[in-house]
Amino acid sequence: MKTSRPIRARISPAALLHNYRLAKQHAPQAKAWAVVKADAYGHGLWRAVQTLRNEADGFALLETENGIGLREAGVTQPILLLEGIFSSRDARAVVEYGLTTVIHCTEQLKLLVAAVDCDKPLKIYLKLNTGMNRLGFTAEELPSVLETLRQLPQVELTLMTHFAEADGERGIAWQQERFKAMLGNLQGQVSLANSAAILRYPASHADWVRPGIMLYGASPFAEQSARSLGLQPVMALESAIIGVQTLAKGDRVGYGGTFTAERPMRIGIVACGYADGYPRHAPSATPIAVMGQRTTTVGRVSMDMLACDLTYIPEAGIGSPVTLWGQGIAGEVPADEVARAAGTIAYELFCALAARVTLELVTA
Ligand SMILES: *Cc1c(COP(=O)(O)O)cnc(C)c1O
Repeated sequence: MKTSRPIRARISPAALLHNYRLAKQHAPQAKAWAVVKADAYGHGLWRAVQTLRNEADGFALLETENGIGLREAGVTQPILLLEGIFSSRDARAVVEYGLTTVIHCTEQLKLLVAAVDCDKPLKIYLKLNTGMNRLGFTAEELPSVLETLRQLPQVELTLMTHFAEADGERGIAWQQERFKAMLGNLQGQVSLANSAAILRYPASHADWVRPGIMLYGASPFAEQSARSLGLQPVMALESAIIGVQTLAKGDRVGYGGTFTAERPMRIGIVACGYADGYPRHAPSATPIAVMGQRTTTVGRVSMDMLACDLTYIPEAGIGSPVTLWGQGIAGEVPADEVARAAGTIAYELFCALAARVTLELVTA
């Protein structure tokens, strides 16, 4: 819904394309799944797919319904279901629509075997648990899985695993070793790398990489900025000042009065709150931009509004543009910085963007 309330998430297709190409430059020998789960990390599934339609080697998401939707919209690239199938209906859809599915447990394998249709080719990603301990087969389970798969000669197998600490100190070598040991002399394509591994560990690129967060222009690393990685922010969350207050020393702001003015201040009230997806945990002093200048939030974020310091932006008033995060008309505030201030990661900020926020395309 396009609203007259000024909050907008402006999406830059050019930045998304740039970031996808950057992922490909880092992994030139590999094919890349554009990970568009969670409504393309809050950026809008359909537009993300439209933008990458002529470039992405494949699209990865979660819901079978969305996979079918992309097929029906004419997407011909491989489509990967990252959590696999949830029902026999899903299994039949995988066969019928030529989707590629993860298989991470014997229950899923059974569903798939039951749905297999004569000799129609079938592509599966066999997920191995190499230490993340979330999904995937163990070394002990693998032989019987492979035995079952031998009954399905039409299956094209890719072996995959997921790294738990590609962005951290422990790295990926320990998981790679376990993966290799599990593979033995098994033949098939291999897919390992998320954004962090794409950027940090070229030796992990293998046949298919799986960039997610980097496509949207945020950094997978706590200690490295998106800009320093050459990424461009795709989403700019923008709104406007809808109220102005003049505070005397000692006045408080917002619910709970968590902020007290230590000097006379001028503050602006922004039409953006936690019901828009802005994190309620963002404390006073979270970065924000108004009319091209960086300033900070003050007081608690409420459902529909938050406050910011305008003391040193005297030209700002009602109607002045505000950038909550991204590269917006009111300035640049990396989503990673807002996330850090709020004790979270940009992934969560993007995905939590509320449906009531209009997504608007930035054209050139
Ligand atoms: C979400 C996801 C990715 C993408 O991870 P990023 O850290 O966003 O790059 C890759 N692989 C799998 C299996 C995922 O679920």
